[in-house]
Amino acid sequence: MKPVRRIIHIDMDAFYASVEQRDAPELRGRPVAVGRSQERGVVAAASYEARKFGVRSAMPSVVAQRKCPELIFVPPRFEVYRAVSAQIHAVFARYTPLIQPLSLDEAYLDVTDPLLPRPSATAIAQEIRAAIHAETGLTASAGVSYNKFLAKLASDYRKPNGQFVIPPGAGEAFVADLPVSSFHGIGPATAARMNALGIYTGADLRTQTLDILVRHFGKAATFYYGIARGEDPRPVEPHRPRKSIGKETTYERDLRRDDELYPALTTLAQSVWHACSKRHTSGRTVTLKLRYVNFQQLTRSHSFTDPIPSATALEETAHFLLRPLLPLSRPVRLLGTTVSSLTSTEESPATEQLSLLSHL
Ligand SMILES: [Mg+2]
Repeated sequence: MKPVRRIIHIDMDAFYASVEQRDAPELRGRPVAVGRSQERGVVAAASYEARKFGVRSAMPSVVAQRKCPELIFVPPRFEVYRAVSAQIHAVFARYTPLIQPLSLDEAYLDVTDPLLPRPSATAIAQEIRAAIHAETGLTASAGVSYNKFLAKLASDYRKPNGQFVIPPGAGEAFVADLPVSSFHGIGPATAARMNALGIYTGADLRTQTLDILVRHFGKAATFYYGIARGEDPRPVEPHRPRKSIGKETTYERDLRRDDELYPALTTLAQSVWHACSKRHTSGRTVTLKLRYVNFQQLTRSHSFTDPIPSATALEETAHFLLRPLLPLSRPVRLLGTTVSSLTSTEESPATEQLSLLSHL
């Protein structure tokens, strides 16, 4: 039998809003929304005082202001949130190398085999929360359980500044009364489809056979079947930096002429550059991949001393790699472009979330 895992989910309380209240005493005890108040603004985070009025993150600013006329809008300061995020990750790293960040302020920790001997995962969660408070002046909540799904549910249970344990064997009973819409991994669309099938709670989900779930939800069915029973085998996966970013396309019609190949490469290069900039990264090496109709494949690479600076430079490099292969010996069915030897253009561990929020 596999040993029971010990998983902690740590979640900072009203993170962005709490940072703003920490740094501006006049905001403490007041309803605060991080975000812009303009027409198209969105609330990124709301203080607990604002939540009492029904203000929630992702809510349009105009709606939030209507619900809470006293609401104070504060523009986001992502560089500060990133710095705090690095501080809390440093705390986590004292206890385990197995840290999976979900966002700047949330992470799963596997403490089955901790770096510091402690009597329980509960004790570790308490120490981590105390250290976070001492070192950042902010509070965090924690969920402790034997898998990620339950640990995440548990961290919400005693929020703010609390923690909750779901011990081995207690998961199925814990999820039975909860609405499926509150389960992490079941989004609003899936929850609505489940409701339409008469599935409202964990207990309802528990009565469905795996067959029925597969028929309605495909690949995700196994996960749903498991969580209804308090089971979730997914490991805590530490963030690993990507080694390359690339895209390839198999064309419906084989490419034969220069005036088909160059535009196709341009499209690929633009989409790869878009993916790079989204991740705040670029690389020194560009690789072109080409597969002929007979499935013979070849790659050509070129490395620079500095990272590719722009979409145009990437496109020109891809074209430069293609040129010696023309005219084609036979038609091409697939083209690919990859950027590797990546270097981050930022130092943050959670830049993807930031780019999601960059419209705020
Ligand atoms: Mg949070």
